[in-house]
Amino acid sequence: MNSPITTEQTTDNYSTFGKHDLSRRRFLGVGAAALAAVGIVVPAVAADRSRSDPGPANPALDAQNADSIWPPGTDSKSLVQNFKYPFSFANKRVYEGGWSREVTVRELPVSKTLAGVNMRLTAGGCRELHWHTAAEWAIMLYGTARITAIDADGKSFVADVKKNDLWFFPSGIPHSIQGLQPDGCEFMLVFDDGEFSESETVLLSDAMAHLPPEVLSKNFGVGEQAFQNVPKQELFIFQTDVPGGLEVDQKAAAGALGKSPKDFAFRTLDMPPTKQTKGGDVRIVDSSKFKVSTTAMAMVTVHPGGMRELHWHPNADEWQYFISGKGRMTVVATGNKARTMDFQEGDVGYVQKSLLHYVENTGDTDLVFLEIFKSDHYADFSLSEWLAHTPPELVMAHLRIDKATLDAIPKNGAVMMPLS
Ligand code: MN
Ligand code: MN
Repeated sequence: MNSPITTEQTTDNYSTFGKHDLSRRRFLGVGAAALAAVGIVVPAVAADRSRSDPGPANPALDAQNADSIWPPGTDSKSLVQNFKYPFSFANKRVYEGGWSREVTVRELPVSKTLAGVNMRLTAGGCRELHWHTAAEWAIMLYGTARITAIDADGKSFVADVKKNDLWFFPSGIPHSIQGLQPDGCEFMLVFDDGEFSESETVLLSDAMAHLPPEVLSKNFGVGEQAFQNVPKQELFIFQTDVPGGLEVDQKAAAGALGKSPKDFAFRTLDMPPTKQTKGGDVRIVDSSKFKVSTTAMAMVTVHPGGMRELHWHPNADEWQYFISGKGRMTVVATGNKARTMDFQEGDVGYVQKSLLHYVENTGDTDLVFLEIFKSDHYADFSLSEWLAHTPPELVMAHLRIDKATLDAIPKNGAVMMPLS
């Protein structure tokens, strides 16, 4: 290719790379030394002078971020704020009993409305009794746990949760999480404040350690010596015994007041998909189904070759967590800006309110991810639905498409493509 590269060629060259994983695999198959020696990243366009990268490179990271290394020709040269942060980069706090790591506005500056905390607890490992100002939405990713809380009337809530179950603790509600047999659990917490931090919660141990013994004595109506063994520092996560039977715990916690009538847990897979097509399915859980929750979720599964259609959310920013598979997303921002980034298991993504985006499966396994919103209800606009419900002549004049093309566009919010 001797002629100067055009925008069209750029897009063309790119799409052979981005749509199918063949080039990526070829790229991965070539040793780092060989790559560095020839200074290429994309074999298909290696002949083009401007598409070479002879300087230092990190082939493993580059291979995971093909759309950043060679952006599609449709991406803008002006910047769209970074909207990806892998949990792999997060600072991990390791304790006897489990670990914790977080992605907040400090790690991902665009994520102003929501923050994520990923936590592992061993069997018996306990996230100690605590509360905080942000509301806590959670999904179990692995294993089982027992969660406890009291409601605003002081009535107790104790439940066991398994993979894909949710829980929600409104602001100020005190609670705990403890791993069960055989191997504890791992879960994702999402807080409705980007500034949230797991190291800024009110912990039972920490609070007690900062109160004069005579005050504790007077408050609880017992002798001062009764609290002599209270931990001097916070526990945060600690190892203790695996709890016994659920009903025993529920009864003991309820006492004379009785159990809370509120359900702070939700069994996601007990409901059928909200929408299902050949391309995949989505389960939408907001306060219409999960009454106590003021955080809305869409759990999305995109099959290989499928795509979460072009859409936007009018009511809230979208915080994403990628559970499995590989995908890419373009965010079209205002002012002629657009950026495409690649995502995989363990990544956080973020889309600001009302920005157009899609999520395409670029791998050969199911892509599963969460869309989370600081809102009690889920809402989106589908680009195709909008175009299908606008006077045809008007749409055709804009896009310079014929009537047959317009007629072929899905009419009722595809959500997942292809439809069949
Ligand atoms: Mn909490
Ligand atoms: Mn979305």
